[in-house]
Amino acid sequence: LPTVAIVGRPNVGKSTLFNRLVGKKLALVDDRPGVTRDRREGDVAFGGLNFRIIDTAGLEEADSATLLGRMRMQTEAAILEADVVLFVIDARAGILPADQPFAELVRRAGCKVILIANKAEGGAGMAGAYESFRLGLGDPIPFSAEHGEGIGELHEALKENLPESDEDEEDDDPRGKPLKVAIVGRPNAGKSTLINRMLGEDRLLVGPEAGITRDSISLDWEWHGRRIKLHDTAGMRRRARIEDKLEKLAVSDGIRAVRFAEVVVVLLDATIPFEKQDLTIVDLVESEGRSLVIGLNKWDLVADQPGLLKTLREDCTRLLPQVRGVAVVPLSGLAGDGLDKLMQAVIKAADVWDTRISTSRINDWLSEATQRNPPPAVSGRRIKIRYATQVKSRPPHFALFGNQLNALPKSYQRYLTNSLRESFDLPGTPIRWSLRTSS
Ligand code: GDP
Repeated sequence: LPTVAIVGRPNVGKSTLFNRLVGKKLALVDDRPGVTRDRREGDVAFGGLNFRIIDTAGLEEADSATLLGRMRMQTEAAILEADVVLFVIDARAGILPADQPFAELVRRAGCKVILIANKAEGGAGMAGAYESFRLGLGDPIPFSAEHGEGIGELHEALKENLPESDEDEEDDDPRGKPLKVAIVGRPNAGKSTLINRMLGEDRLLVGPEAGITRDSISLDWEWHGRRIKLHDTAGMRRRARIEDKLEKLAVSDGIRAVRFAEVVVVLLDATIPFEKQDLTIVDLVESEGRSLVIGLNKWDLVADQPGLLKTLREDCTRLLPQVRGVAVVPLSGLAGDGLDKLMQAVIKAADVWDTRISTSRINDWLSEATQRNPPPAVSGRRIKIRYATQVKSRPPHFALFGNQLNALPKSYQRYLTNSLRESFDLPGTPIRWSLRTSS
């Protein structure tokens, strides 16, 4: 689901707006893992638009000395996570100095913003609405969260700004959404053989001309009741052959396959493993933020299987630190061996990629990890990491808040990444960090 964040200084009416949007589903609020006391989340169905909404209004009741600092952190995290921000001002009070830091955060993030001039029921607060131009966040929608005025305009604006959802497929299938999987690798690694084996022998009946006419790039499949969409490597190649641009397409085809997929299987020929091209493909999977599994194909040709497996696992640890712990699965597409193991690894990789960790668990981990191995001092000042939160999944993406974080050494970030992988069982997936420093 796309995410909408409600942002603004205390008392502008964020809670009221939140409650109005979440409506009768209020029971869902605070119901999901990953929600802290500081934040409220809910699912919204609003005139055909479906999205997740988060706000920071829960904080306002906290009324502690640290309120504004914590609210700022939560706001930053919410903005990072959001596809669209609803920036709320109090139209009657006008623009106050307290609005500015929050507006600054939104402007700096450069995200999509809908400006809401709240408390404007019955045409009140027009002066405040005018003033709001100064925020540089676009035209305000005069609104009343209390009385439901401006709802139509808000709906229009959301419709314009929310990303198209890709959920046009059979959504209510009890088996869930299909998992998108691509098998990539050098020519002759055995991709076509493996795909044909997965789909069953009848796939071999598909003639070359089918590749020209078929416009879909994916093949529907099912593994133990789980729906899978397999990227059609072979189909692409059939087309390429006909157009006689095989070399050129081989590269763009790999990129397309990686972009298509949620989990990418990089298939190696176990008799000639780890050439430069394989490492390039792994880098591509990492930079595109996909989850990864390594398949060692043609295992039937390997004489010393335990010995080679040990060597290759060590190679992976050494050559692929960015996806530490990645599953390495020996198999034979030709003989049909190891396919279940491969698919188990694919499903696990998808789950890891999709992980959401609650803010309280991350912060428990963070204080433990920073106590065990404190961040270094930089030019006499100690780097302080205060707070962490997960801002996105697919792949897992975390924000760190603290002081001097722009000086945080890469080696320390690696330490955190590896510690996080171990603590929350996140092997193989890329992990992203955003560092937010307050001084
Ligand atoms: P692709 O270019 O990656 O699609 O590779 P292909 O599927 O066309 O396979 C290339 C060659 O490797 C063919 O001659 C296959 O028969 C052979 N091959 C594929 N998988 C295996 C395997 O598991 N074991 C053995 N021994 N040969 C394989």
